[in-house]
Amino acid sequence: MRIHSRLNKSRANGPGNRAVIWMQGCPFDCTGCFNPGLKDFNGGKDVPLEELIEWALSIKGIEGISISGGEPTEQLQPLNRFLTAIKEKTDMSVLLFSGRSEKEIIVLTGGKSLLNLTDVLVAGQYTIECKNSPGMWPSSANQEIMFLTDRYDKNDFLHLPETEIIITDEGEIVESGLGIMNVF
Ligand code: SF4
Repeated sequence: MRIHSRLNKSRANGPGNRAVIWMQGCPFDCTGCFNPGLKDFNGGKDVPLEELIEWALSIKGIEGISISGGEPTEQLQPLNRFLTAIKEKTDMSVLLFSGRSEKEIIVLTGGKSLLNLTDVLVAGQYTIECKNSPGMWPSSANQEIMFLTDRYDKNDFLHLPETEIIITDEGEIVESGLGIMNVF
C-alpha cells in the first residue's frame, strides 16, 4: 500500500487512542488542502501489506485505526485487504476520512466492502470557506460524519483534542489532529 506515514498512537484523529495511516495520493484539489504533501501519487513509499498488518496488530492500548490521506479510496483493494485482516483478528474500530461521499464510494469496485469495514466515515472534500472552528468535527461544515455501525455516536466526537504534538520513537516531531499530519 502506498502511504505517506503512520502513527502508533493518536488521540486527535478520532475517539480514544488510535493508530493512524496517512495514505499517499489524492486526485482532488480542495482549496486550503491541509495535507498538500500527500497529494502526489508518486510520493510517499510502498509498504507491504503484511508489514502494515503486523505493525497494526503489534500496537498495545489502541481501540481503533484511522485511515486518512491523501485519498484512501484510491487504493481500495489493498486497503480492503488490510482492514479485513485487522477486523478478523481484533475488535478495533475503523474511522475513514475520504473526499468522496458515501454514494460515490459505494459505486467504486470494492467500495461497498470498504464501507462494511468502516465504523465511522468522515465524508466530503475540505472547503476552506466552510471551515469549522479549530478542533470541531468535521473540519469543514460541508463534510459529513456518518456512523455506519453503532460503535460510536456524535457524543464521541464532542471533546476530542484539537491537535497534538507527538515525538515518535524515531525522534520525529509530528503535529496531528482531525486527519492533519505535519512532520517537523
Ligand atoms: S481530499 Fe484531503 S488531501 Fe485531497 S486535496 Fe482535499 S484536503 Fe487535500
